[in-house]
Order: sequence, then structure tokens, then C-alpha cells
Amino acid sequence: MSITISDIKQFIYCPRVIYYSYVEPVPRKVTFKMEYSRSQHYELNQREKRRSLKRYNLLEGKRYYGVPVSSTILNLNGKLDILVDTENMEGQRYFPIECKDTDQKVQKNILYQLVAYALCIEEMTNTPVQKGYIYIIPEEKAYPVIITESQKQYIRKVTTMIRKIIHDEYYPDPRSNKRCWDCEFQRYCNDCDLPNTISLKERNRTIVQELFNKS
Ligand code: SF4
Repeated sequence: MSITISDIKQFIYCPRVIYYSYVEPVPRKVTFKMEYSRSQHYELNQREKRRSLKRYNLLEGKRYYGVPVSSTILNLNGKLDILVDTENMEGQRYFPIECKDTDQKVQKNILYQLVAYALCIEEMTNTPVQKGYIYIIPEEKAYPVIITESQKQYIRKVTTMIRKIIHDEYYPDPRSNKRCWDCEFQRYCNDCDLPNTISLKERNRTIVQELFNKS
């Protein structure tokens, strides 16, 4: 069964997302943040086409956008934001660049997404990929990422774990309850560590009272 690189990103965020995507699919909301992120991606690619690669500390090379990538070995596929072909005949020739619209630091799930792209490119081109970049759109900054063999090994394991969830219809534990706060699947998980709404309402009431007392 074929899985996507986006599944890997989701699994690392929380394995239950795989369950909700494949085993018991639930309706998903397209949030404003997702829509905005898509439009930013488009804008970025348009601008990026006109700029040099100096910011990536790479030699000039050919840039390809929205590149479909796949691995037959892992039965994995995805679409990479930017692929740079430096046309170097020695060392690393192809560099994956993943763009993210986030105001947080580079998260693990984004990093491992890049590792999965690297594995696909290695298999497709038969050349080593040991470095890539994550471009943070709001900062307009590209962060270099060294891609290690142990990270690649982890991705191989993750693809096995994803298939196990799907095949065995296994409902996994959350990776961390801290993520439940702003997770779109919150209403389907009834063991989230969410705050007691009574205390939340009480706190809001106090804040409102204080505001009125001030005025
Ligand atoms: S609400 Fe929490 S447990 Fe449920 S999918 Fe989201 S992060 Fe995982």
C-alpha cells in the first residue's frame, strides 16, 4: 500500500492522525491558516523564480518547483516544494528545499519530512542526499539541515509503523498530550489532556470583571 510523505509528517506530529486518515476517516476542516499557507507557497514560488540561490549558499543551479518524488522501496510518494540541481558531478548534486509558513522553530515533523524527500531523491537519482534546506516563509530564511543515516533509518521504521496502524486498525497512543490544544482532531480524541472548561470559564469571568472595574 502506497503512503505519502505527508503521512510521515502527520505520524510524527501524532500517530493518531494516521488512524483518523485511513482507519476511521473523519471530516477535516480546511482552516484559514491552511488556505493562507497555500497562497503563501504559491507567492513564494513566483518570487523565488526571480531570485538567485545565494541565500542557500549553493552554486547556481536549475530549480524545479512542485516536484513529484517517490520511493519504490518504501512505497512512498510526495511532492517537493523546490528541487535544486547543481549539476555537480562530484558530491551532492540534488538539494531538496521544503517551504513552511510557520512562526515557530523548525519542528521535528517538518525535519523528518525533508529526510523522507531526501530518501526518495536518492533512490530516483542514485546520488547521495546528505543536506537539504527548510525555508521559513515569514522569515524569508533558509535553514540548512544535515541529513544523517540514523534519520533515514528512522523514516524507514516510521513507514512500517504507519502501515501497521492501517493494516491492524490499531488505535495508537498520542505522541504528546501537549499537542492536543490546537489539534483539529481534538473532538474525536476523548483522552486529551484538555483544561477543565469550568475553571476556564471562571478565569474568563474574572478577567472580564477586572476589565470593567478598571473602566
Ligand atoms: S487531539 Fe491529541 S491525541 Fe488526538 S490526534 Fe490530536 S494530538 Fe493526537
